[in-house]
Amino acid sequence: MESATKKPPHFVLFPWTGTISHIIPMTDLGCLLASHGADVTIITTPVNAAIARGRVDRAPAPHRAAITVTAIPFPAADAGLPEGCERMDLLRSQPEIALFFAANKGCIISGMCQTWALGLARELGVPCYVFHGFGAFALLCMEYLFKHRPHEAVASPDEPFDVPALPPFRCRLTRRQLPPHFLPPTSVGGKALQGIREFDVAADGFVVNTFEELERGSTALLAEATEKKVIAVGSVALCRAPSLDPQSMPSDASRCMAWLDGKQPRSVVYVSFGSGGKLPPAQLMQLGMALVSCPAPVLWIIKGADALPDDVKEWLRENADADGVAGSKCLVVRGWAPQVAILDHPAVGGFMTHCGWGSTLEAVAASVPMATWPFFVDQFMNEQLIVDVLGIGVSVGVTKPVETALTASGDAGGSEVEAEVGMEKVKEALEMLMDQGPKGEERWKKAQELKLKAKGALEKGGSSYINLENLVQSFA
Ligand code: UDP
Repeated sequence: MESATKKPPHFVLFPWTGTISHIIPMTDLGCLLASHGADVTIITTPVNAAIARGRVDRAPAPHRAAITVTAIPFPAADAGLPEGCERMDLLRSQPEIALFFAANKGCIISGMCQTWALGLARELGVPCYVFHGFGAFALLCMEYLFKHRPHEAVASPDEPFDVPALPPFRCRLTRRQLPPHFLPPTSVGGKALQGIREFDVAADGFVVNTFEELERGSTALLAEATEKKVIAVGSVALCRAPSLDPQSMPSDASRCMAWLDGKQPRSVVYVSFGSGGKLPPAQLMQLGMALVSCPAPVLWIIKGADALPDDVKEWLRENADADGVAGSKCLVVRGWAPQVAILDHPAVGGFMTHCGWGSTLEAVAASVPMATWPFFVDQFMNEQLIVDVLGIGVSVGVTKPVETALTASGDAGGSEVEAEVGMEKVKEALEMLMDQGPKGEERWKKAQELKLKAKGALEKGGSSYINLENLVQSFA
């Protein structure tokens, strides 16, 4: 028996639009799936949607409620067909058949784990691109790892090996730092990860949130290595201004912005480890002690603060919490912060980040240099891109990933409960990050240059603009 609270599975049905004989049985299949407790979405063109809705409306009420029919427009006029000519039986002549097939253009861009999208794309005869959320450099390193397997030649999980995917730079990694894709297939999730790799290999290419000028030729090298299309379309977050919409922001947002307003330009360190990054308590304490004792004001975002041990909570209350009092040295936010707006604030002079690709791009777009504290997956590779390739970051010196169910490597000694990075080391990195001497200024200058390139890429005639235009026009 299903438990009453369990969410039903969701089926998306995309029937072949050419004949009613495909619309009808697949709509009925949707009704049957709904009668078995599934939620169903049927996607088709407007004329066919009317047929599907008519059938769904005759299904018993509770099943009906579980089915959504969604119509996507059919470009009949563009294809030289009369309006509403959305099926083969509506065509009036032999030549219109060719026009009808030509009008069935489109493309699937699928998240990396929705591997089933490939079969759907093949059935529809449209290309299937994968969107990973990783940058091109990380994808390029992963391609190298899949093909050349240098991680299998080292004796221990901490022995470094080279990944010379972007010459002359050599990415240095250890097995422990690799994304879970390189775990033995017998590990938790190993089979699913193998499926993801197979999806990549079989798909038509990658749509990547990056811009060609950012990753020093990684997009072209990735295209060469995979023999697939690599379409750089980012930085996608730049499609909107980093404005603060008070309606959509949690209450912490205005507190952050007001606190930043009271600080000098380029004086604040913003510390955040992504949407869910949590350090082990002992490590969090070392970080906290460094933050409260460094001279710079600190805006520190902590996720999962409720689950911290009592002594850590108390330490935070006594030492780091000034509750947003204007002029206080440290503002701790336990929850969600308006990161894009924070990075864009003139008071922010450095960003301590876990090197998530979204955060990295946002820091680049705001020209904020980074102190890099990678947690896992692609982040150890992103760190080297930020620090060694782009020259806009300072490494904190983390060598071991934060352990999660997915990163559990099976390599003994992975679970570091003790703090790997001591307070002094963190302070050193912060000092370097906020230093306004020649090295700091060099990083700042490089970050400013990249910001301009990021903006230019999406402007008319820029690289990402052209890539998006070509992508869309290739189906027009
Ligand atoms: N983010 C945010 N507020 C927070 C934490 C995260 O707005 O308090 C946003 C951040 O701007 C970025 C995303 O969440 O767009 C995090 O993505 P990223 O790839 O950096 O890291 P992940 O969360 O996937 O580890």
